[in-house]
Amino acid sequence: MLLLAASGFATISNAQNSCATDAVYQRLKQQHPEITAFEQQLDKAIKDGMQHVNLEKFAKLTSGPDTTVYDIPIVIHVIHDYGNEYLNDDDIFAAVSNWATIYRGENSDTSDVIAPFKKYVGNPRIRLHLATIDPNGNPTKGITHHQSYLSYDAGDQSKLDQWPPSSYINIWFINQFSGAEAGAAAYAYYPSSAAYMPYYDGVIGLYSYLNYDKAIPHEIGHVLNLEHPWGNTNAPNVACGDDEVDDTPPTMGHLPTGCTPASLYDATCATGYYKTYKNISGIDSVVDYPDTTNSQNIMDYTYCQRMFTKGQVERMRLALTNSIAGRSTLYSPANLAKTGALAPMPDLAPVADFSVERGTPYTTDRAFFICAGDGTQFTFKNRSWNDTITSVSWTFSNDATVPTSTSMGTVSTQFGTPGWVTVSLTATGNNTGSSTITNTQAVYVADNATLPAGSVQEFATAADMAKWPVFNYYNNQFKWDWYNGAGYGDGACVRYRSYDDRTSPENKTGTPVGDYDDIISPAYDLTSVVGTGGDVNLNFYTSGSYRMGTGSAQDSMQILVSTSCGHVWKPITTLKGTALLNNSSQSAEFIPTTASQWKAQTINVPVAYRSNKVFFKFRYWPGSNGNNLYMDKIQVSPYTTEVGEVFATPGGIEIYPNPSNGDCKLVFTTASDGMANYIIRDVTGKAIYQKDGSYAPNSHIEEALSARIFPSSGIYFVTVTIANKTVTEKLMINN
Ligand SMILES: [Zn+2]
Repeated sequence: MLLLAASGFATISNAQNSCATDAVYQRLKQQHPEITAFEQQLDKAIKDGMQHVNLEKFAKLTSGPDTTVYDIPIVIHVIHDYGNEYLNDDDIFAAVSNWATIYRGENSDTSDVIAPFKKYVGNPRIRLHLATIDPNGNPTKGITHHQSYLSYDAGDQSKLDQWPPSSYINIWFINQFSGAEAGAAAYAYYPSSAAYMPYYDGVIGLYSYLNYDKAIPHEIGHVLNLEHPWGNTNAPNVACGDDEVDDTPPTMGHLPTGCTPASLYDATCATGYYKTYKNISGIDSVVDYPDTTNSQNIMDYTYCQRMFTKGQVERMRLALTNSIAGRSTLYSPANLAKTGALAPMPDLAPVADFSVERGTPYTTDRAFFICAGDGTQFTFKNRSWNDTITSVSWTFSNDATVPTSTSMGTVSTQFGTPGWVTVSLTATGNNTGSSTITNTQAVYVADNATLPAGSVQEFATAADMAKWPVFNYYNNQFKWDWYNGAGYGDGACVRYRSYDDRTSPENKTGTPVGDYDDIISPAYDLTSVVGTGGDVNLNFYTSGSYRMGTGSAQDSMQILVSTSCGHVWKPITTLKGTALLNNSSQSAEFIPTTASQWKAQTINVPVAYRSNKVFFKFRYWPGSNGNNLYMDKIQVSPYTTEVGEVFATPGGIEIYPNPSNGDCKLVFTTASDGMANYIIRDVTGKAIYQKDGSYAPNSHIEEALSARIFPSSGIYFVTVTIANKTVTEKLMINN
C-alpha cells in the first residue's frame, strides 16, 4: 500500500492536465443536438447487448463465451513545428507497444489492483496495430508528420491528414492546446459525436503524454464509448455520478492526486452499492459490488491507472461491434487487409527532412535571415525519419564556410554570397536506400549594399522579388507573393494572399494566432534621407478587403525594423481594421481595379532607427474572414506618401491633415517661374485669405496655414494657381 502510494505520488508530479473529452462533448452536443440521436441509438444497442450477457454469471466472474479478439489499425499523426513535439519513431513504437499491452489485457501492473477489484479486472481482447498500408495503398509505418502552426494552437482544426476513421483510429500529437482546451492533456470523441463529425473522429493529445501513464489508452476508451466513472456530465470531484457500467461503483471521481489511500479507499458514493439481476431462472439475485471507488480505473483521473473492469470491456466491445461512427468496420477482415494491420512492419526508405534552428543570438525566432559575412551562423538540424538513419550528407550553396557535412545532428555555417540559400540533405537508412530533400529557399542571406535615398520599389517585374525575400514559414496558401494583375500606378505589386477559400485544412478561425508570413526589404541608408521637416517615413500604398461581416476581419500587418542585420527586430506599428482593410467586403477574391481603392500609408521611422543600414519587415497575420491585401510603391522619404505623390505630380496640391483643427500644411510643386497664388474661400464663396507667393522654381513647397485664418468650423475651398493651372481642394476645419 505504501509502495503504491509512493509510486502514485511519483507519477503525478508532472501531471498538470487532464482529459477534455467531456468538455468538448458537452459543448459539441449543445451546438449540434443531432448527436443525441446517435447517442440514443448506441445506448439502446449497448443496453440490449448487455441483456444478452448473463449478468449473474458475469458478476460472478465465470469467463464469458466471447473470446473474439478484435484487431484495430491505428495511425499516429505528428503535428509539429520542429520543436519538442517532433516525436521520433522509436518513442512512438514504444508507446504504441505499451498501449497495445493494455488492450490485450497483458499489463503486469494489474498486480497492484487493490483486493476488492482484483476479480473485476477485464481483458478488452483488442489488439492495436500501427497500419502498414496508408489510404492510398502505399506502404507506411503508420506515422505521418505535418509542420503546422496549429501544433501550438491546437484543437479540432489541428487534426490534419486524417485517415478514414472507419478504417483507422487516428491519434494526433501536438505541442499545446488553445482556447477552451488550453488545460487539457488529451481528448477524444465518443462514437455518437464522431458519427456526426467523422472528420474530427480520433484522439488528440499533448506530445508529452505520448507514453505518460495510461493517458492515450484512456482516450481510446472514450473512442470505444467508455465514460469517466462519474459519468459524462461533470468534472471530477463535484458530485456522485455513474458511467452506466455496473462494476465501476458510483464515484465523484478524482483530480490527478495519485493513488493516495484517500482515493483508493473512497466510499463516499459507493457505500452499500449493489445491483439486482434476474438469474437464468428469473429469480432476483443480488450482486454486492465493492463499496469503494475504482480509483485505479483507466477512465479515472488519478494517474495511477491499472485496469478496465469486465463491465467496461463489455461496453467497449458492444460499441466496437456497432456500425455507429464506423467502429464495426475497423476490425473487418477486408479492412485489416486494406490497412495491412496484421502484416509485419515494413522496412521503408527514410524520409529526409531538416529544420532551420534558433542560433545565437536568436532566442525566439528561427534564423532565416542574416546579412552576408555578418559573422553569425545559420544552424540546420537533421530531422530525417521513417527508418533507422545510418548516415546523412549535407550540401550548402552561397559560398558556405561549411559547404558539406555528414553531421547526424546539427550543422552551423555562414554564407559569403547574398541571396536564397539552397540546402540539400540526403539521409541513408540501415538497408533500404536513401532519400534527399532539397530546399532552394532554405534561408536568406541579405546583401549589405544599401538602396539610395528616394528609390521607389514598384515590384514591376518578378525579378524585383530577388531582393525582397518572402517567408511562408508554414508552407501554406496564406503567403506573400508577386502579383502581376494589379498595382498602384502600374500593373504589378506584392500581394498577401489572405483569401480563405474554406477548402484548406488550415482554415482560419478567430483572431490571428500562430500563422504569419514575412516580406523583408533590402537595406536602406536612412542617414541620406533628408527633408525640410526632419522626418523619415516609410511610405507605401495598400489595398485591402475582407470576406464578410463589417469589423469582423481580423487580419493585421505588423511593421518591424532592424538596424542589426535581422538580429533584433523592433515593431514600429501595426495596421489593422480600416487602416489596412480599406475597401468594403468582398465574398470573392479581392483584386483592386481603380486607384481610389488604394490607401496611402506613411509610417514614421523613430529617430533611434535612422541608421545607415536599416531593414523593414512586413509581417502579415491572417485572421478569420480575410481577403487579399496588395502593397506597392514602397519608398523611404522625408515627406508623407500623399505629399510625395503631390511632389511627383506637377500642378497637384495636397492639404494635410484634412480634416484639421486649422493648423495644417498646403503642399504643392512650383513651376519654372517659382510663382504660386492661392486663395481660401468659405462655403458662401467669400474669400477669407489670399497669397501671391514667390518661391524657389521647380521646388516642393510645404506652406503652413494657421488656425487664425479660419473664423469657424466648417468647409473651406483652397484654390491654387501655378503656371496658369488652377486646382481646388476641399478642406474641413474642426476647431
Ligand atoms: Zn477522459
